Amino acid sequence: MSIRIVLATGNAGKVCEIGQLLADREIEILPQSAFDVPEVEETGLTFVENAILKARNASRYSGLPVIADDSGLEVDALNGEPGIHSARFAGPNASDADNIALLMEKLADVPDEQRTARFQCLMVYMRHEKDPTPLICQGTWEGRILREPRGENGFGYDPVFFVPDRNCTAAQLPAEVKNALSHRGQALRCLVERLGV
Ligand code: IMP
Repeated sequence: MSIRIVLATGNAGKVCEIGQLLADREIEILPQSAFDVPEVEETGLTFVENAILKARNASRYSGLPVIADDSGLEVDALNGEPGIHSARFAGPNASDADNIALLMEKLADVPDEQRTARFQCLMVYMRHEKDPTPLICQGTWEGRILREPRGENGFGYDPVFFVPDRNCTAAQLPAEVKNALSHRGQALRCLVERLGV
């Protein structure tokens, strides 16, 4: 019998990636939109705090176990920015293109060898709203920031995130290859293993 888990995100790119990663598991994933879960303010100072805030909120409104993640891009030359602010780097209603444009501007004078960066993903599983011991997994994907976007796949900063092993950007990788390598894929596989499903 499959277990029902709510996915605490409204980000269509993430729903799609996580759905693909769980396609062959005994898990029925329900979007939090099915339960009218209101957005929660991400007031944490770390990815893990924000992931737990999102999971607790979705569990409170759905009454079901929840998987939530908080993720973002850490750029060394910007002291880890945009970090937890990745989604709204260029402002509250920023599009992916706006965020990439701001990143290009801030890194304009940074030489290639100093453009190192990584995606981080903190993924949590909470059995219920008051779960005192959430399962917590972290995935990290190392790369470098290019000077202009390349590729159409993925979302967010994928077009400027160069993956040295593959000699292309994350947005040039087919979805299944990105899932095999990415921070989110790593964190989710770790979580699924610990759930034992
Ligand atoms: P969150 O929804 O608060 O976790 O924000 C994550 C933000 O980080 C996204 O909106 C993207 O801007 C960025 N991000 C996270 N994961 C990825 C990825 O796999 N590719 C590109 N950008 C990502």
